[in-house]
Amino acid sequence: MRDIKSYTLPELTEYITSLGEPSFRAKQLYQWMHEKCVASLDDMSNIPKALKEKLREDTAGAAGEAGEDSYGESAESDHQVDITQHRPCPELSDITHLAPVDIRESRDGTRKYLFELPDGELIESVLMRYKYGNTVCVSSQVGCRMGCRFCASTMDGLTRNLTPAEMLDQIYRITIDINERISHVVVMGMGEPMDNYDTLITFLGILTSPEGYNLSRRNITVSTCGLIERIREFADEDMGVTLAISLHAPTDELRRTMMPIANRYSIAEITEAAKYFFDRTGRRITYEYALVRDTNDSDECARKLAALCRQTGAHVNLIPVNPVTGRGYAPTADDGVRAFKNKLEKQGINVTIRRELGQDIDGACGQLRKRYTGDLR
Ligand code: SAH
Repeated sequence: MRDIKSYTLPELTEYITSLGEPSFRAKQLYQWMHEKCVASLDDMSNIPKALKEKLREDTAGAAGEAGEDSYGESAESDHQVDITQHRPCPELSDITHLAPVDIRESRDGTRKYLFELPDGELIESVLMRYKYGNTVCVSSQVGCRMGCRFCASTMDGLTRNLTPAEMLDQIYRITIDINERISHVVVMGMGEPMDNYDTLITFLGILTSPEGYNLSRRNITVSTCGLIERIREFADEDMGVTLAISLHAPTDELRRTMMPIANRYSIAEITEAAKYFFDRTGRRITYEYALVRDTNDSDECARKLAALCRQTGAHVNLIPVNPVTGRGYAPTADDGVRAFKNKLEKQGINVTIRRELGQDIDGACGQLRKRYTGDLR
């Protein structure tokens, strides 16, 4: 299946001219998809009918085959979802777009979207409203294979990578839904973005392109559990975005109890990669640290974490861990979170506390999807 929404502008231009069309048509299509965020060829008013037909022919055949197989099966067997609750599956003979299956709005204005992909898989995206603008938290994979013990997204392992179009369309559908522009993007939804590296790079390139959505690079954060070879590659790419590393523990021993990836990479290696990122890009990294009661919130942990931050000039982003059904991790209480923050600040570390938005709507990553797939009731 030809997925023209995953094409960069040069790739799209090459394809469109190969069809015997003038190259300006590629730019028009690109603007419809990525600037105006339309969900269908039907909405592209200045594209000739004949070209739309050609595009449909080129995408329909292959999509039809793959679509029938996987959609029918996965909707009924894997997900145990009553299919009658679903909105229709996205039109497979058209440009890739996601269909909202469920949208929940929290008391604090956070909106959590459950989107259905063209093959029937489900992913989550979250819109958070801040004074400075609208932030969308984007998923990069269906499921995840990193296995972090406190995280809901990884409980069933990895189903598949998302395509660039599927990552982009989370932002586009939300833009259309709220009729407002998204100013900030964090790749902190389901999945490990560095485990879907090429897609991540294409996604960032298209998202920030002046002919497309033109999102400011400075307003994008990519979060990783710490795949160090990829961090180095990403540093060399120098895309101008912020890198967050999910540290969650200041010693290898403790980190291994929370994150299996810690068996593969040591904190010393992460520190080296973080330094490399800073040297190459001039951008300070952020350490994410989910506070788990009586586990990683001691004075000693704060002291060791501060020492690690000083080595790399990192900021810390604290969040009390979001309890996930079946995981058994309890969050540090509010006063404990404040005390931990103070201890870091006293040692000269820059700290923010991530606001826990959307708690009343299954705030933790992957929880809304699990409710739908029948694993959380
Ligand atoms: N795989 C990437 C990005 C997705 S998760 C990563 O590991 O960074 C985004 C952030 O949410 C990560 O810091 C992750 O560790 C954290 N997270 C996952 N489950 C959480 C939970 N239950 N409570 C608090 N933070 C959680």
